[in-house]
Amino acid sequence: MNRFVLAASAALLASTSAVNAQVTEEDIANDQANTAQVVTNGMGRDLQRYSPLDMLNRDNVKNLVPAWAFSLGGEKQRGQEAQPIIYDGVMYVTGSYSRLFAIDVKTGQELWQYDARLPEGILPCCDVINRGAAIYGDNVYFGTLDARLVALDRKTGDVVWRKKMEDYKAGYSYTAAPMIVDGKVIVGNSGGEFGVVGAVYAYDAENGDLVWKRPVIEGHMGELNGEPSTMTGTLNATWPGDMWKTGGGATWLGGSYDADTDTIVMGAGNPAPWNSHLRNAGTPTEGNTGDNLYAASRIGLDPATGEIKWHFQTTPREGWDFDGVNEVVAFTDRTGNKRFGTADRNGFFYVLNREDGAFVDAYPFVQNISWAEGIDENGRPIYVEENRPGNPAAAADGDKGETIFAVPSFLGGKNWMPISFSQRTGDFYIPSNEWGMDIWNEPITYKKGAAYLGAGFTIKPLFEDYIGSLKAMDPESGEVKWEFKNGAPLWAGVMTTAGGLVFTGTPEGVFYALDDESGEVLWQFQTGSGIVGQPVTWEQDGEQYVSIMSGWGGAVPLWGGEVAKKVSYLNQGGMLWTFRLPKELASVQ
Ligand code: CA
Repeated sequence: MNRFVLAASAALLASTSAVNAQVTEEDIANDQANTAQVVTNGMGRDLQRYSPLDMLNRDNVKNLVPAWAFSLGGEKQRGQEAQPIIYDGVMYVTGSYSRLFAIDVKTGQELWQYDARLPEGILPCCDVINRGAAIYGDNVYFGTLDARLVALDRKTGDVVWRKKMEDYKAGYSYTAAPMIVDGKVIVGNSGGEFGVVGAVYAYDAENGDLVWKRPVIEGHMGELNGEPSTMTGTLNATWPGDMWKTGGGATWLGGSYDADTDTIVMGAGNPAPWNSHLRNAGTPTEGNTGDNLYAASRIGLDPATGEIKWHFQTTPREGWDFDGVNEVVAFTDRTGNKRFGTADRNGFFYVLNREDGAFVDAYPFVQNISWAEGIDENGRPIYVEENRPGNPAAAADGDKGETIFAVPSFLGGKNWMPISFSQRTGDFYIPSNEWGMDIWNEPITYKKGAAYLGAGFTIKPLFEDYIGSLKAMDPESGEVKWEFKNGAPLWAGVMTTAGGLVFTGTPEGVFYALDDESGEVLWQFQTGSGIVGQPVTWEQDGEQYVSIMSGWGGAVPLWGGEVAKKVSYLNQGGMLWTFRLPKELASVQ
């Protein structure tokens, strides 16, 4: 028996002896290749959201049928943005208001439910959502809206440990899916609109002890094993005065992990407050660039210590709420280069070098971008200065700066909803939105637990017939190969498969399978409420399955201005749908 066969039979043994099995680092590292389970957010820690399964494909997807549906129940609905986790016959899914459900993956029957008792006065900025769980050892992990991290026994739902990350009364909350790296639970925080300080945290998966913490705003001190470690950046190199103390940069979307370079990659949100003139008067003081590091940046971290290896700032001295949190996807391009791809809120898709995060190229992925003419050879925006919201201090009455119309809107060319990279086509699939906003600045002072914006705004559509736009983009040329337009803004994740399919859903409730080469609709299903969740696929008993959450909500109805009015007819919900391609229909064309 050669080594390959040995390895293959060991893998088979591992997958068939799942009874009482523990989820290992190896299971997590091999999540993309092992199609019988989904044990990570992103279907692999590089967040490609690509499945090598091709049982379900362009020829037979029309035969995909519902297998079961599961209601999240309760009087409270709102946005359902979670990605399911599937392991050992159980599906784990989180719901609005910090709930976690364990469901029999074959029947759709509930096994147990954990309902976090949330205190009065939580401060979620952008709906009471949760984006999913993580699984490791015997536990399943998720974060709650009162900024706590919870470990539950995956068999019983009993609390194993529960840790307070930060003070919810100061505006901290938690919504992302945690990520497991080498036995540590890696999480970020939410609350950039309240002047919190963004940070990345690594907790021991077994006992919940904080191993390290890395604030992402310069001047703040990191922690390692209960001791102060190193300062982030250089105090006051890019921030004036004391503004860094409430500097924002919330790491609210969680991160990815590149195994090739052993690097955790996190994004940091907008600097606080939104009024950029308070953080940078336009003429940086001596020795101070005014860029407000590391807000609106991607950051590479050492998983062992939390030290920063590299950073890339997408929007220096950011002033439009272009959070830099968007997911960074590790991929290998057609020429064999190891790259990162990331679609920013600011409307540009960036390609970075995986070794050091260095800038390679950038392309616009939405139309009519107004705040920058483009990205220069160093990766820095070429600003259109007239498109920066005006300084209130320069206004005649001093209480409202000049209003400008900026594209994209503050909800971004792309918001949180994850992109997908297809290994089959070599292209990225980007759920984007074509919209702009009136925005102006106002004076503001920091007050604990109060919104810290110093800005007003109204989002407006750019075109009459659509806002949402799913685009297939070549990461080597920036060419948009096809575009799928949608009336309402897109707010759901995307998944690609070796079967040549692109899955995503719309606020109108439709779950779609598109052709990855043409964008043609091959299959669709009305789920009954708006889709703002993230699809997954897996193999079970020789058949391919697909799941998606349905339940309209998220930031658009709360913050969408004229767009929110346009989509106010959409109904809330809370349903987890699972579809299957029956064996007997796999070859029926
Ligand atoms: Ca923000």
